[in-house]
Amino acid sequence: MEKIKSYISELGQAYNIPEALVVAAPIFLLFIAIFLTFLAVKLLEPKYRLYKQDSFYNLIWKWKWKKDEIVDLWCYCPTCKSMLYVDDENCKTTATLGDKITFFICHECNESEKGRIRGGDRRFAFSVIKREILGKVRNKTFDIYLDL
Ligand SMILES: [Zn+2]
Repeated sequence: MEKIKSYISELGQAYNIPEALVVAAPIFLLFIAIFLTFLAVKLLEPKYRLYKQDSFYNLIWKWKWKKDEIVDLWCYCPTCKSMLYVDDENCKTTATLGDKITFFICHECNESEKGRIRGGDRRFAFSVIKREILGKVRNKTFDIYLDL
């Protein structure tokens, strides 16, 4: 410790700079380096990774990106912003694709239906939404500043 202290004061005297600065400068430079690295990572990240919500079928959809894969996709009420309940029970009782409907229900809005996707169960409905999202990413028509 003594050795470091004397080294610092020697360095300070040699270059005629205050001892405090001799100690602070490397720490400061380290912070700058960390900040620049962080900034570079953010800037190099594809812009679509910031695209994490949109409106499809009059419902609010939110998701996350895991590399270039959409994860944690879910739907929210356009009126009260609550998470929606997905009802696809009818899909089990009919084999006709046109009759299969996934309903999106909001508990907070008196169990009212907020939207529906025709053609299959929830797996189908979510894949439809994923296709919509990826289509917008591909055509670069997405908006990361949407106010939903
Ligand atoms: Zn609602």
